[in-house]
Amino acid sequence: MDKKKIAFFDAKPYDHIWMDNLKESFGFELKYFESRLNHDTVKLAQGLDGVIAFVNDTVDAPVIHALYEDGIHVIALRCAGYNHVDFQAAFGKVHVLHVPAYSPYAVAEHAAALLLSLNRKIHRAYNRTRDFNFSINGLTGFDLHDKTAGIIGTGKIGRVFIDICRGFGMKVLAYDPYPIEDSDIKYVSLNELIKQSDIISLHCPLTPDTHHIISADALEKVKKGAIIINTSRGSLIDSLALIDAIKSGHLGGAGLDVYEEESDVFYEDLSASVIQDDVLARLVTLPNVLITSHQAFLTGEALENIARTTLQNLRQFFDGEPLPHEICYQCHKYGKCDRKHRERCF
Ligand code: NAD
Repeated sequence: MDKKKIAFFDAKPYDHIWMDNLKESFGFELKYFESRLNHDTVKLAQGLDGVIAFVNDTVDAPVIHALYEDGIHVIALRCAGYNHVDFQAAFGKVHVLHVPAYSPYAVAEHAAALLLSLNRKIHRAYNRTRDFNFSINGLTGFDLHDKTAGIIGTGKIGRVFIDICRGFGMKVLAYDPYPIEDSDIKYVSLNELIKQSDIISLHCPLTPDTHHIISADALEKVKKGAIIINTSRGSLIDSLALIDAIKSGHLGGAGLDVYEEESDVFYEDLSASVIQDDVLARLVTLPNVLITSHQAFLTGEALENIARTTLQNLRQFFDGEPLPHEICYQCHKYGKCDRKHRERCF
């Protein structure tokens, strides 16, 4: 097998485990770089055959152009979301592959973890008991049973989260412009969902249509005391409006695995730094906001699936096979392209 050399950006210790287990069987040599892919680091890929990138890497026109100039024609995203890629710049030059599904359970279960922790104040109780403060004042939650969960986006993750909510005896409403036909899911308008839900969980992709889908206007309409969970993409929520809604006491809480400006901070240990992002700093101070660092995907099962699919995607590229997990400018813009007839997007 032709052994190709691949630049692996934003490498963390947990990435190595599954990638190292599988790389030989797919015939790859991986060059791990701790730094993110960006305008300064793109040169590290010089002389290599492909790139593996992640959610907060920069995959804009200058980076794509630099890779192309260096003879690199494939970027394998080791993630599902691809809102950070300039597909127009990539079209005709660099094939972009992603991992469409690796474990919807991992993400949906993390959404449930955020909801349960936030509602029952587990994060605060944990800190108290570690300090031998056994008071339970201020830790009152509410029964999830019989409450209404509003699910925005009923794709792979949203559907698993619906099952979890039903397990708790919750009523479920959903909004999705592409509803699942003949399902037992009760679809309503976005407006109705926002007004009727005790819990709103975001499971749609970030697109121009969904940018700030939770806006100041939407936050005014939510039920008093409602909880919002976001494990999808930070820019689905207007963070400043979220702070106002929490400060006013109208919104009951927010569980956030993603944040609008996360790319400069998430995945890094900044505990000894002065945080320059005042919005994030304010969110962190709020007792009813629980933030995790884009870790909803982080289970062993998901990491293995991500490694296997990413390497498989690259193998198919180098072997000249069809690329079922390719996304191009047309796929991105219109929802589908004619790849099936032509086997590759271009
Ligand atoms: P999916 O493609 O299976 O489902 C997305 C759903 O959103 C689809 O049903 C689609 O019709 C719907 N949708 C599209 N536009 C919408 C709109 N305007 N309003 C409401 N719904 C809309 O995707 P998935 O695998 O379920 O993943 C959902 C999102 O989760 C991804 O886009 C990604 O951003 C995020 N994600 C986060 C993590 C994490 O670690 N936090 C991991 C994986 C995925």
